[in-house]
Amino acid sequence: MSETVNTFEAQQQGRPTGPLVHGYEVIIGFETHAQLSTNSKIFSRASTAFGAEPNTQACAVDLALPGTLPVMNKGAVERAIQFGLAIGAHIAPRSIFARKNYFYPDLPKGYQISQFEIPVVQGGAVEFFLGDEKKAVRLVRAHLEEDAGKSLHEDFIGQSGIDLNRAGTPLLEIVTEPDMRSSAEAVAYAKELHKIVTWIGICDGNMQEGSFRCDANVSVRKPGQPLGTRREIKNLNSFKFMQQAIDYEVRWQIEQIEDGHEIQQATVLFNPDTGETRAMRTKEDAADYRYFPDPDLPPLCISDQWVQEVRAQMAELPRNMATRFQSGYGLSEYDATQLTQSLALATYFEAAAKASGQAKLASNWITGELARRLNGQDLGIEQSPVSAQTLGQLVTRIADSTISNSAAKQVFDALWEGNTDVDAIIASKGLKQMNDTGALEAIVQQVIDKNEKNVAEFKAGNDKALNALVGQIMKASQGKANPQQVNELLRKKLA
Ligand code: ADP
Ligand code: MG
Repeated sequence: MSETVNTFEAQQQGRPTGPLVHGYEVIIGFETHAQLSTNSKIFSRASTAFGAEPNTQACAVDLALPGTLPVMNKGAVERAIQFGLAIGAHIAPRSIFARKNYFYPDLPKGYQISQFEIPVVQGGAVEFFLGDEKKAVRLVRAHLEEDAGKSLHEDFIGQSGIDLNRAGTPLLEIVTEPDMRSSAEAVAYAKELHKIVTWIGICDGNMQEGSFRCDANVSVRKPGQPLGTRREIKNLNSFKFMQQAIDYEVRWQIEQIEDGHEIQQATVLFNPDTGETRAMRTKEDAADYRYFPDPDLPPLCISDQWVQEVRAQMAELPRNMATRFQSGYGLSEYDATQLTQSLALATYFEAAAKASGQAKLASNWITGELARRLNGQDLGIEQSPVSAQTLGQLVTRIADSTISNSAAKQVFDALWEGNTDVDAIIASKGLKQMNDTGALEAIVQQVIDKNEKNVAEFKAGNDKALNALVGQIMKASQGKANPQQVNELLRKKLA
């Protein structure tokens, strides 16, 4: 175990909790915008579908034209409640919508409806493994808000346009404490959060389309010093860029400090082509936004009963499922966590475990050989050419000693190529393990008779000589003997 202590304690004590970079401690906090998977907008009936002709899906309410009134979308609130329950947060019985005022071309109404002082989801934590180390990143809050439109820059004609289709799309903004201590930890957090929102089905998680956008707040400090000034890297929409951007930003900040400059609070953009971050604007403070409660929207009231109803409809959560895999199937915490990386993977595992009655062995094959093959071809478990039932069959044949582990690999190859009948493959390739002791004994005796030298050496106390005999027997049986059994038989006969 590395010398990691509880983050809060560590902040009090000024001890570093993560790897130092050139003597500096890296501090990261995340703000993530998860687009909620409702069919209509957060305060109107306009469609949220992606990819429509520009400006065909923004209605008068989304633009706050005079005389319109926003009406809260119940489905968006339910998704916020689901998220709160999934991460063990407090669901506020009463939360408030506020106007965040700013000017930008993609926000013609001049304000964004968001939540400020009292958000709907408060506290909670996201837990995950970084390597084999367990981490927990505390959440400050998750609040409901509407998205703005989009500026489209048509470089080839030197013009920009505004597409307001996205205006009013429901977002859940999820804000962490500055608990992360490395780019690797930040990516692991983001992946876990992505897993949670897609698992409970509140967000489609499509990063290219902008359904899951992460802003990384990054600062550095010498261990024991107060928090440094942060810069916020906007709109990281791939896990790969996320790590690159943070690493670049950390190096840049350390260089600045080492050169005697002070870090200015700023919002920066990552350019994947150059691998650099660049300041976009100096950062506004909350006071600049002139937040005030939106007079058009009443407080959002959520009764205990509503929370219970939402809870009752939710599928089993990854965390609970991982615990159940440990107690019910005897898996390690690590394996249980691996297998609950997605609902699809967990479902696959349970089906294979049921089909074979061999959960541990099924788990080993799924996290081992199958995962390796899928990764190699960049496939998800949903696209696995080997079904859970078929893998279960394979595992059954290993468990009942029909085939050895190495023969099982050959069977798996055939399954991967599209064959589906495990027993037929075993038969056609002649992979059946020799379980007939009579036949095996005959081979063992033959080999003993033909190898007097090895036998004499073994009897004289050279244990290695036995391996030579085992090898010969395996060869004579065309790999179908069970090595364990061969070993036992030999020792018995030569005793
Ligand atoms: P804003 O909404 O204006 O960006 P917040 O104070 O809500 O500001 O902080 C946003 C994010 O920045 C949070 O995730 C928080 O954990 C993180 N953060 C705050 N201070 C620091 C810091 N010194 N270094 C790194 N991250 C920080
Ligand atoms: Mg921010």
